[in-house]
Amino acid sequence: MAVATLTIDLNAIADNWRALDAKSAAKVETAAVVKADGYGLDAGRVSKALHQAGVRTFFVAVAEEGIAVRKAVGQDAVIYVFSGCCDGDAPILKAHNLIPLLNSPEQVNTYLPGSAPFGIQLDSGMNRLGMEPAAFAALKDRIVKATPSLIMSHLACADEPDHPQNAAQLAAFHAMTDGLTTRKSLSATGGTLLGADYHFDLNRPGVGLYGGAPFTQAKAAVRLSIPVIQTRAVAVGETVGYGAKWQAKRPSKTATIASGYADGLIRAMGNGTVHLYAGDTPCPLIGRVSMDLITVDVTDLDSVPDSLDLLNPLQTIDHLADAAGTIGYEILTSLGARYNRVYKG
Ligand SMILES: *Cc1c(COP(=O)(O)O)cnc(C)c1O
Repeated sequence: MAVATLTIDLNAIADNWRALDAKSAAKVETAAVVKADGYGLDAGRVSKALHQAGVRTFFVAVAEEGIAVRKAVGQDAVIYVFSGCCDGDAPILKAHNLIPLLNSPEQVNTYLPGSAPFGIQLDSGMNRLGMEPAAFAALKDRIVKATPSLIMSHLACADEPDHPQNAAQLAAFHAMTDGLTTRKSLSATGGTLLGADYHFDLNRPGVGLYGGAPFTQAKAAVRLSIPVIQTRAVAVGETVGYGAKWQAKRPSKTATIASGYADGLIRAMGNGTVHLYAGDTPCPLIGRVSMDLITVDVTDLDSVPDSLDLLNPLQTIDHLADAAGTIGYEILTSLGARYNRVYKG
């Protein structure tokens, strides 16, 4: 077989949820964010595993994503849609019992006259989605009377615990919501780790469930094993790959393995800090990442295995992200369609 195998550990994802849930008081609900197809790992399978672990509230980015989640979790879970209710969404929300997080006076005005459940998303300083304080103040009485099931906002800098914007957004959220009895939510993974002041009634972790920073204690949820399709001897002075960027300084043995940037392996990661693992033994990635192939220096291995691991507990999505100048979220959501996907748990 010449395609790589991506093994997704649903038990690790459930364990990460339990570990994040344990960071907050028992009265605080821990939900799960499964947008972008469950951060690229299959929203249906991930949601089903998390539902079995006890998750009863899920979040997706757009209404269409809620369909697969509803199918996976049945009717006894709540599914919120971050983008609220955009043009044409109402029939989807209704058919699949999804709750929009209304973001603007326009969304409130078009959605509220009905009796369907809704939540409210406020802007506490990120300036991305959500109602501004003044707009919310103007509509607050009407909104409260219509009994939203959740009022939420989102932190821009929660992955940097010392960033002053965390406290500023916390204060802004308090100023907008103190005194309301509606359930409240401010925190994703980063805010969950900032402590109880940030917890309110419900936390909404995403990336930490999938093994990513800033939840450094997370279990790795993905393993990527890439088959070796050729090995060769490379003499001193010979080069490997596009641009002849790697040159052998000793008699070398290289392995060519079957994944590349078309599989979401970001080309910029080929800068000398990424390894392919033969069991626990790291072998350097050498030369440029091609569309379908990468090359590995396996000179120091006694024998070359059938496949080498790019992602494992020793080299996580965040290692690859650092090497490529990106974040673990992008490594996950880029993982390719070509992989043979195997689900554990
Ligand atoms: C993506 C997202 C989350 C989850 O964030 P993580 O950093 O992945 O935990 C929570 N809330 C909102 C509004 C989001 O957009």
